[in-house]
Amino acid sequence: MRDKNPDRVFIFDTTLRDGEQSPGFHLDANSKLRIARQLERLGVDVIEAGFPISSPGDFEACRRIAREIRGATVTALARAVREDIDAVWGALKDAQDPQIHIVLSVSDVHIDRKLGMTRAQVLKRGAEMVEYARFLCDKVEYSPEDAGRADPDYLIETVETMIAAGANVINIPDTTGYCLPYEFGELVRRVINEARGSEKALFSVHCHNDLGLAVANTLAALSAGARRVECTINGIGERAGNTSLEEVVMLLKVRQSKLGLECAVETREITRTSRLVSELTGTPVQPNKAVVGANAFAHASGIHQDGVLKDRLNYEIMKPEDVGLADSKIVLTARSGRHAFHHRLSRLGITLSEGKDDEAWQRFLVLADTKKEVTDEDLRKIAAMAETNGTNGHEGNGHPPVTDQLHDHNHVADAMRHMIFG
Ligand SMILES: [Zn+2]
Repeated sequence: MRDKNPDRVFIFDTTLRDGEQSPGFHLDANSKLRIARQLERLGVDVIEAGFPISSPGDFEACRRIAREIRGATVTALARAVREDIDAVWGALKDAQDPQIHIVLSVSDVHIDRKLGMTRAQVLKRGAEMVEYARFLCDKVEYSPEDAGRADPDYLIETVETMIAAGANVINIPDTTGYCLPYEFGELVRRVINEARGSEKALFSVHCHNDLGLAVANTLAALSAGARRVECTINGIGERAGNTSLEEVVMLLKVRQSKLGLECAVETREITRTSRLVSELTGTPVQPNKAVVGANAFAHASGIHQDGVLKDRLNYEIMKPEDVGLADSKIVLTARSGRHAFHHRLSRLGITLSEGKDDEAWQRFLVLADTKKEVTDEDLRKIAAMAETNGTNGHEGNGHPPVTDQLHDHNHVADAMRHMIFG
């Protein structure tokens, strides 16, 4: 299961399984299929299509995805019971490259309070189900749920047992988003170093973002030797969500020379994928979200705009084109400077005639104080007003007429609003 290239990181997308379990989210089979097709274009290595035992609709969605998708492994989730594994296999058996994913708890709190079993019983059940799944399918992933809060010695014993039973991917989940990066990295390192047979398995991680550490924990696990990452588009998922695919992928790309790791994702498909998931789940992306938020490549302050217009490297560590955006966004606000103002005018094809520049700039400042963003339409009106104003006797006094006549700022703002919007 391991790649010949030791630096290759495999991207496992669980948008359609863990992501779809987000409170208030639901995707029907058609929507899931549309997202799966886009994930195929994005170049992910594994698509987790769903949880087939959960409903006939989800079974059908998984079956359609398995039949259509080529070029990526298709997997689906099963608890460690035969009915679930049979449902996964029933849905995936026509896939070009199917994988059965089994989850069974490993932390004492789960074993005791959720399952009502003993450690020994859990080991036996897990091994039996891995063997059963391997009888059906060549690829079996085992996830010891809540590994982040488990006794590391028992976790290692579990991993050894499941590899011996035939699991070829071991996933270490921080199910509750509890771990610190150095703790989680150390845990993954110990499991890989100490579990007998670990060289036969590919190690994966699945982190949650309850404390905002999902990507940091994932990175720590990669540094410790994990080579598969479970993640979702826009970081959606249970509670505070999962590791965000776009953040991990761009992290690997932007810091490639430092990390020395690579993946096969076509990053220029990231924005398109993010927007599709947002649209089909009916859930907007927070504007300041890394990589895919509306403000991720937007600049509003004058100092930053001037810097970016001189050279984007001044304030951007990645190119918008690399995530599939046409360009950076220069947002004109009251904090913008003249450089950005002129840049936008020239992009609109507007050249102010001589002596009109100050007038237009003053009008811009007054209007910008009254609203969040000055639009292209506003700029056209400002330019037109600056041009026509010179004929009524205010030229040459060094001040724009509006601010000359109205001293109270709010009156100026109101007057501007009225002049521009009627
Ligand atoms: Zn999860």
